[in-house]
Amino acid sequence: MRFSDKFGIIAISLMTGGIISMFMFFFDGVREYVSWGSFFLISILASPIVYFSMKGSSTCPACKKAWKEISNGQETIREYPVTKTENEGYGDQRRSVVNTYIHREYWQFHKCEACNHEWKTKENSETKA
Ligand SMILES: [Zn+2]
Repeated sequence: MRFSDKFGIIAISLMTGGIISMFMFFFDGVREYVSWGSFFLISILASPIVYFSMKGSSTCPACKKAWKEISNGQETIREYPVTKTENEGYGDQRRSVVNTYIHREYWQFHKCEACNHEWKTKENSETKA
């Protein structure tokens, strides 16, 4: 397991704790339980889930070793614009706007550090145009 993997697990766990704490803050009766203590507790509880999901996605399909996947470039399959009607603003300023996003379908190439096996997965991303 590399340092970047450990760091990634800690960062994502803390982010999960932060997002859940923020979400809890919107509810009466739950809000008063939000503290640094609850934030760290949620982060600690989230870490095994983050650990196993990252372990799964970093496992080589050939030699089954975990934490050996390295990113090996990308190749765009196709790109196309998509429009979405979204709400922006608050209160009286609230209005519907049509936003354009660029949808990208691409191959993500992976390589195994242990056995040099190469494989690819199909990924999607969307960025605001
Ligand atoms: Zn391998």
